[in-house]
Amino acid sequence: MKESEFKLKIRDLRKTYGPVIAVNNANLEVMEGEFLTLLGPSGSGKTTMLMMVAGLTLPDSGDIWIDGKVATYAPSSKRDIGMVFQNYALFPHLTVYENIAFPLRMRNASEPTIAGEVNRVLELVQLPDVGQRLPSELSGGQQQRIALARCMVYHPSIILMDEPLGALDKKLRDQMQLEIKHLHTRLGITVLYVTHDQEEAMIMSDRICVMNNSRIEQVGAPDELYFRPRTVFVASFLGESNLVHAEVTGSEGGRLVLRTANGCKVRALARDDVDVRGSVLFMVRPESLSLLSPTDQADNEFQGSLREVIMVGGVTKYYVEIADDLVIAVNILTSRSHEVITRGGRVRLGWSIDDTVVLSDSQAQEQVALSA
Ligand code: ADP
Ligand code: MG
Repeated sequence: MKESEFKLKIRDLRKTYGPVIAVNNANLEVMEGEFLTLLGPSGSGKTTMLMMVAGLTLPDSGDIWIDGKVATYAPSSKRDIGMVFQNYALFPHLTVYENIAFPLRMRNASEPTIAGEVNRVLELVQLPDVGQRLPSELSGGQQQRIALARCMVYHPSIILMDEPLGALDKKLRDQMQLEIKHLHTRLGITVLYVTHDQEEAMIMSDRICVMNNSRIEQVGAPDELYFRPRTVFVASFLGESNLVHAEVTGSEGGRLVLRTANGCKVRALARDDVDVRGSVLFMVRPESLSLLSPTDQADNEFQGSLREVIMVGGVTKYYVEIADDLVIAVNILTSRSHEVITRGGRVRLGWSIDDTVVLSDSQAQEQVALSA
């Protein structure tokens, strides 16, 4: 596709601060109307990426296109971008009305236009009656909504949000996540969002761009990243995962055959998007495992002793020791009628081939490369 077919396109973008590489050769495309989230731990380069898109930080190399036009070195004011940050930075001495009117006044809009537009966005964020208040007279969540309204009032081409809910308590954050998502769906705006919270990213995004150590690890829809992670980092950063070392010993009817250190044969989905030979890891999610009764059979099975059972409301977590250095977590929906297994008791675990995702053991491969 050509540059003009994307809302935002980033090519080989790189930014260093002295010896520190903040963003390393990033490539990313954002579609019109898409909600795309940069997700990664602190220091992985998310804010630097966003600041380069905003034009507040200049890259060392690479290119940025917005609406099909090269914007790499364009001044921020020429980029038609709206921004919402964690510290909402409303002007404290201006009323809510004047705060939202500000970007329109900067663009020389007429008073009737301003009044119409301010009221329109106040309705959108469901705070129609607070126009005459000062920001300090609003709660944190309300201030954040006003910041969003101020950003939407001039119809920017892309809205950038850097951890906008980071300062809010959990309940309000949950509510605002859904509100922003609904606003996005209703208005069809393009959003580039930043968070370090995997759950927030999963809830809100059309696609997630996982960043680790200044690099993009994988870009995909939430379910794609969850069920088909390409790297160990993505597998362990999104949701809970069991990761088990194994050797690839062959293939059988289009499936990979693996052998674990404790001698178990495990069959897994073959994959062509990752190099999986020799030493690998396979991932199986705790909710994909079940506790087998003596007559049950499954594609793949482990035996072990039950180490711990923890009921966490609707889910009960079983920790099963398979070998000295291998404990597998199993999540099962809590039910009153569950058979009682005592700690230390023998159990069999089963799971299907489709839930067995092979990942390359990058550490093992680095060692091979070093010894070669
Ligand atoms: P994130 O937003 O994912 O936490 P950042 O983009 O803020 O990550 O930072 C990425 C890396 O770049 C970090 O190692 C950080 O210390 C470094 N960095 C970011 N901004 C600056 C700066 N202005 N000067 C020096 N180093 C910076
Ligand atoms: Mg940041």
